[in-house]
Amino acid sequence: MTGDAMTGDDIAVAVTGMHKRFGALEVLKGVSLAARTGEVISIIGASGSGKSTLLRCIPLLEVPEEGEVAIAGEVVRLRMRRGTRHPADAAQVNRLRGLLGFVFQSFNLWHHMTVLQNVIEAPVHVHKRPRAEAVAEAEAILEKVGMADKRDAFPAHLSGGQQQRAAIARALAMRPRALLFDEPTSALDPELVGEVLLVIRDLAEEGRTMLIVTHEMAFAAEVSTRSIFLHDGRIEEEGPPTRIFRDPQTERCRQFVQRHLNR
Ligand code: ADP
Ligand code: MG
Repeated sequence: MTGDAMTGDDIAVAVTGMHKRFGALEVLKGVSLAARTGEVISIIGASGSGKSTLLRCIPLLEVPEEGEVAIAGEVVRLRMRRGTRHPADAAQVNRLRGLLGFVFQSFNLWHHMTVLQNVIEAPVHVHKRPRAEAVAEAEAILEKVGMADKRDAFPAHLSGGQQQRAAIARALAMRPRALLFDEPTSALDPELVGEVLLVIRDLAEEGRTMLIVTHEMAFAAEVSTRSIFLHDGRIEEEGPPTRIFRDPQTERCRQFVQRHLNR
């Protein structure tokens, strides 16, 4: 995948030929993937298959040894320095990172700030938006994720599901081109999973561009426009969720989906 496939107007996020090693361990072995605007891509695969590493390479939280990343049609410039690859331009990486929203497994809210303060932090301090405007937008977003009544609460006083919905609100406040979710419900008590999945489903219905790593197979099958099965650092199978979840073509994907659907 080169040229237009990565940088076309409607490509929100693209990676191509990505290899990532940790010491002797090659975690990504040539992954290419492009998310068009409005696509919801679910990424499934066994623990250790490289899902989180793939997601972390997109905002360059990890720098791949080989391959390229493009965000909103702009290729991130990388260069070799003392034998390792680094972003060539930190300002470019910061700017492009600002176009993405992340929601991780553990609710990474700032604990000394209220929900509202968490949500307006980046708009005010990174995007330099007027505070009153950021607050008005944050209130609308909190309403949308069902957290309006918790705007002045501190994270420690919230349930895991509420914290995760606040984290989603914070990501949305960046007005992101794409949202990246890494197992957003896997740290939650089972009874709190549904409320978070409902919020993510609403975002899918709004046509938000999302990459979602999840073990919630029924949810992935329902919300995604495309699914990717990662195995041992490679895309083993990719296609419409109806095929991946109901009629997988590879034996490995079939077994993986079977095991997880029956849980
Ligand atoms: P997944 O999210 O699919 O469970 P990960 O991407 O987290 O998989 O990890 C893939 C492999 O890379 C695992 O073997 C993991 O131990 C290893 N790994 C991930 N991050 C690091 C790191 N920072 N240093 C060393 N090894 C890592
Ligand atoms: Mg992971």
